[in-house]
Amino acid sequence: MGFTVAIDGPAAAGKGTLARALAAHFGFGYLDTGLLYRAVGARVSEGQDPVVAAHELSDADFARDDLRSVEMGGWASQVAAIPEVRQALMTYQRDFAARPEGAVLDGRDIGTVICPDADLKLFVTASAEVRAKRRWDEIGQSMPYDDVLAQVRDRDARDMNRADAPLRPASDAQILDTSELSINDVLTQAIEAIAALRNA
Ligand code: C5P
Repeated sequence: MGFTVAIDGPAAAGKGTLARALAAHFGFGYLDTGLLYRAVGARVSEGQDPVVAAHELSDADFARDDLRSVEMGGWASQVAAIPEVRQALMTYQRDFAARPEGAVLDGRDIGTVICPDADLKLFVTASAEVRAKRRWDEIGQSMPYDDVLAQVRDRDARDMNRADAPLRPASDAQILDTSELSINDVLTQAIEAIAALRNA
């Protein structure tokens, strides 16, 4: 039977790096669910209706090279507040989570809404300042740090305060704060937790 790992947390906390490394280590599939919302956001930025966009996503949407931009992150968090958009993306995520070889999904509501029965739930977080610094370095410091910090805070507020599937840890999630832990420390902890559960 498959094994599902749910990883949630705010932007730039290190979820993606951890999820990718865990999937590679155990041979699980990996789904970056933020990309689904970014792909919907990209279509909406071009004038499409968000709900229609969510229903029409196809592989070509994920080939765009602007999906990971700060701007698309902003569009993504706006469309992510629309319940019909979240609903349209749910089946795809749940089917992915049920893959027989195992799956790691990262996002905001994986442990709370998409996979409430996940075998392991991790909530990866870090201070807004640390996360903004990471994003700022990732984009080659191409805009002022204070602007990146303001965008991180805006996106946190929108993701945590929306009515449908707000960002919060599941009650049974392990919290990992990456402000001071290195990604290797976090990875070691997560690998040990998964190995223990699989051998139980
Ligand atoms: O993870 P990433 O920064 O790519 O996500 C972009 C936006 O998509 C988030 O700020 C959030 O609003 C939305 N999102 C979500 N639920 C998920 C994944 C992402 O609402 N499972």
